[in-house]
Amino acid sequence: MRLDVIPPQVHELCRALRERGHEAFVVGGCVRDLVRDDPLRIKDWDVTTSASPHEVVRIFGKRAIPTGLQHGTVTVLSGRGDHRLSIEVTTYRGEGAYSDGRRPDAVTFVRTLEEDLARRDFTMNALALDPTTGELRDVYGGVADIARRKIRAVGEARARFGEDGLRALRAVRFAAQLEFTVDPDTLAAIPETLDVFAKVSMERVRDEMMKILAARQPSRGLALMAETGLLARALPELAESFGVAQNRYHAFDVWSHTLATVDAARNDPIVRWAALLHDVAKPRTRAAKEGEPGEFTFFRHDLVGADMSEAILKRLRFPNRERDEIVGLVRNHMFWYAPEWTDATVRRFLVRIGPDAFGPLIDLRVADVVGRGRGEDPEIEVGELRRRAEETIAKAQALKIADLAIGGRDLIGELGLAPGPLLGEILRALLERVIDDPALNDRETLLALSREHAGARS
Ligand code: ATP
Ligand code: MG
Repeated sequence: MRLDVIPPQVHELCRALRERGHEAFVVGGCVRDLVRDDPLRIKDWDVTTSASPHEVVRIFGKRAIPTGLQHGTVTVLSGRGDHRLSIEVTTYRGEGAYSDGRRPDAVTFVRTLEEDLARRDFTMNALALDPTTGELRDVYGGVADIARRKIRAVGEARARFGEDGLRALRAVRFAAQLEFTVDPDTLAAIPETLDVFAKVSMERVRDEMMKILAARQPSRGLALMAETGLLARALPELAESFGVAQNRYHAFDVWSHTLATVDAARNDPIVRWAALLHDVAKPRTRAAKEGEPGEFTFFRHDLVGADMSEAILKRLRFPNRERDEIVGLVRNHMFWYAPEWTDATVRRFLVRIGPDAFGPLIDLRVADVVGRGRGEDPEIEVGELRRRAEETIAKAQALKIADLAIGGRDLIGELGLAPGPLLGEILRALLERVIDDPALNDRETLLALSREHAGARS
């Protein structure tokens, strides 16, 4: 174990608590990642202590921020100047009764480290470390489980998932992130506690799913979600695609294709979410092809899928901007390029999808082709369009009103037009002309065209 990666601020904080007669240990995910020999994954250093929150505040004074006093947590800014590190210090606590499946009704503080470890979710997360001696406190066999790459609940899994519905999804998330397997008893508790999982807030579900989608192979987590029933509760629309057969272009059913597409997608949250949702409407739009038994069409599944994605992402409380980006990718994912496209067609295409969406849309198509599972080379489908679009973008040709050589202000100043809807109408007409012929995008030319347009209107 690389004890030397423990920051000096953590040592300093634990020493300060111990000098005043309290116990203090590094605990939780950071110890797990030390034991796994993956120190680069560690983002937060958490400390557990016998000192009460008020004592912690008293000891660290201005450097203590009472972030979650009611949960027994104080954030301590340890170290000086540029070397400040914020560390969460939590008093030994047990778990009160959960009546809502989300958070304990009240926090009960406990006397010993062992009691504190008992309330933690998985054995690998219930490890405490004495930073000075390197001694591990491993009451539940977490080190052995890490060696076996197993996620196992502390205590009885069914009871633990019944207290807090988020734990079931955390198990799956860790399985995807760490590439561990979930112990059979722990896994079996998930379907039995889905009613408790259903009470978890959509924001927390979204945050866990973001982490699953950021894994090397998100399918590890998504397949577990499907198998345990978590997916049907969190995203029932996606569960509709299990076993839905497609056509001769696809080696997989819709759900398996979705998994393969997500795995193949560039590791970017927008692209991965779009990959997850791109075919969400296939089950609802599927129709048998006339005269071709076993073949199906999915007419307008891109458009229906965009609407369904919008509803799903709203439910998950995505920020509007990210939601719009993902929905746009789903809506446009069926674009079909042909070498006959003129440069103006390429520009129109970029305008329609929004130039910023081009890179992600190509990423999505590449993943989609790989996800068909027939070993096709995606470059054959996207290479030429990518080259032509990148040329267009590099030439900085006008693709939106803001790129025009004149703006509303010029129309008012030079043509004496009054502010109003006519200005927008003229600018849109100018953009149309410039997309057809980029050479027109110069101030004098555009002013002349605007005069014509305004004249024709009066
Ligand atoms: P990560 O490295 O992804 O942050 P983590 O294990 O540090 O994973 P956190 O959510 O940061 O996870 O929580 C820190 C610790 O608190 C966990 O290691 C675990 O001991 C405990 N914990 C967190 N959430 C729960 C929960 N829902 N139920 C029980 N214990 C939990
Ligand atoms: Mg953490």
